[in-house]
Amino acid sequence: MKLILIDQDGVLADFEQSVKSIWQNRYGVPLPLSKDRKHFYLHQELPHHAESLNNIYAEPGFFENLPPISGAINALHELLDAGLDVRICTAPINAYRHCVSEKFAWVERHLGHEWIKRIILIKDKTWVRGDILIDDKSHITGSVQPTWVHYLYDQPYNRTIDKPRISWTNRASWDFLLA
Ligand SMILES: [Mg+2]
Repeated sequence: MKLILIDQDGVLADFEQSVKSIWQNRYGVPLPLSKDRKHFYLHQELPHHAESLNNIYAEPGFFENLPPISGAINALHELLDAGLDVRICTAPINAYRHCVSEKFAWVERHLGHEWIKRIILIKDKTWVRGDILIDDKSHITGSVQPTWVHYLYDQPYNRTIDKPRISWTNRASWDFLLA
């Protein structure tokens, strides 16, 4: 059985869109991201706004209220129905108080209670065994040699990276998983 690890933020839950809309509502201006973005993490890209960004992530309700990424929920059900061992592999932020429980609540709300047992909450994803890891982060590092192959989940901020990529709305990019 193929074991598929799927990241939560930026792959299932639309983290960045939420940050942008909260920022716009709170400060009355768009999040000031330049077109030639250099960093994956917003707080590294905008170091002078790091505190405000971290406050947004740490607020109660932020993680639970992230909207699902288009096509993600149907795709996960389809992968599971096809007999794949699908796991949600996600790293909580250091300000874990709300993040950890709300990641579980999000999965229960959008995928169903049965999916709670499929959550793997871990800081270092190289420790998790799997055939494929689908993640929007450009480079995933850790302390052991991973068994999985990293497929990038396609996002505007990782388009310069040359790796195989998947997008839920482009079925041809992931239907090889069902084969
Ligand atoms: Mg992610």
